[in-house]
Amino acid sequence: MRISIIGCGYVGLTTGLALAETGNQVVLVDVVEEKLRAVEEGRSPFYEPGVDEMILKHRSSGALSTTTDLGRAVEGSDITFIAVGTPSREDGSMDDTFIISAAKEIGDALKTKDGRHVVVMKSTVVPGTTWNTIRPLIEENSGRKAGPLLGIAMCPEFLREGAAMHDSLHPDRVVIGTMEDETFEVLDRLFAPLDSRILRTDPTTAEMIKYASNSLLATKISFANELSRICERVGVDVYDVMEGVGMDSRISPQFLRAGVGFGGSCFPKDVSALRYLAREKGVPTPILDGVMENNEIQPGHLVQVAERTMGGLKDVKALVLGLAFKPDTDDVRFTRSLPVARHLSSLGARVAGHDPKATENFRKEAPPEMSFFDDHEEGLSWADVVFLVTEWPEYAAIEWERYPNIRAIFDGRRTIEPASVKDIAYWSMGSPLPEP
Ligand code: NAD
Repeated sequence: MRISIIGCGYVGLTTGLALAETGNQVVLVDVVEEKLRAVEEGRSPFYEPGVDEMILKHRSSGALSTTTDLGRAVEGSDITFIAVGTPSREDGSMDDTFIISAAKEIGDALKTKDGRHVVVMKSTVVPGTTWNTIRPLIEENSGRKAGPLLGIAMCPEFLREGAAMHDSLHPDRVVIGTMEDETFEVLDRLFAPLDSRILRTDPTTAEMIKYASNSLLATKISFANELSRICERVGVDVYDVMEGVGMDSRISPQFLRAGVGFGGSCFPKDVSALRYLAREKGVPTPILDGVMENNEIQPGHLVQVAERTMGGLKDVKALVLGLAFKPDTDDVRFTRSLPVARHLSSLGARVAGHDPKATENFRKEAPPEMSFFDDHEEGLSWADVVFLVTEWPEYAAIEWERYPNIRAIFDGRRTIEPASVKDIAYWSMGSPLPEP
């Protein structure tokens, strides 16, 4: 099939590559030329394992092309995916600016196009958006109604950054939210080669499935984090506790790893948008409120334990290891390293950071006095205290005995094997609190 994808970010690009891999002709559209140029040159516009190789493969097979001309891309395709950003506004609500402008442009392009066209919402949107906002906009601008000539669907994306290519090729499930049998059949055929479970719903249920999934995963993390603070005081290790909890087949061990909290482009903004929607509908959300409140506690808690243990952090050289919100990405959206750095700075510490991929992105938001090391070994030779915030594998391999200058390590992600640290005070979140 001929596919156009609006938005060449994590979701648009990896969806496009997965569809090229399964035998389709894909054109990627973006307003940022630089991103498209990167793809033309055979590299990913962001760091994501496996994506460069897939771009090269499908640039040379001829299955993948790019353009800034949305109209022409829609004109030359049968199905258009909307994969633009839906960030949070200040008040926590979903910013629909990009999806609205994409929908209008798609509608305009369809005015002069012959034959049936299917528009699929891939962006994460508040329940009701595809059917009540996007469909009418496309209808109005194209002059055709949802039905025989215009298919409308919502297929939420569940990929994890850092494993985006794998997840796009092997999704746990594909949710197809549509009111029309014909649209379902086309998309069912399109996704069939991915060999995944397919669930048919209406668009609004599909949108709610995405918010519910992310909110439940975030809830599991915040639950583990709350439990971890209790375990620290009781004198037991939350990882031992959660190992026992996760053995229960009703629960599963996933997302019960306590630590410095969740970040990224999805969990914080999706939980916030769902809370905002609930408020608008007059529904109280004590669980979701607590999930976010808990998440904000963790970075400060890590720094407080360090302050108490060290007897103050003023003028202490504090190295934050890991600035991306998770390993294998250069994405720093809502990264927990930022509140950790800010807390350290506010207590008078001299803060520096290192990340294998994300330093440039992090620098834009960092406290002005924060400095950065390109090489983590140089940072380790400089530091008095180390805060581990992102579990890059190379940090697990550090030979700590080479850095006698380091007085303490505070591990926010259970990255380090305690046995590998001798003569340095070591504390990991969720283990019994250290003596001051
Ligand atoms: P992103 O910011 O990486 O990419 C979005 C792209 O859309 C940008 O390159 C931007 O320039 C482009 N764009 C914006 N308006 C445009 C327009 N009118 N025409 C053409 N291009 C336009 O975003 P992302 O991380 O890929 O996320 C996209 C959506 O998918 C969001 O709703 C997000 O919540 C959801 N999602 C993201 C992930 C993830 O892990 N990143 C996972 C699941 C779902």
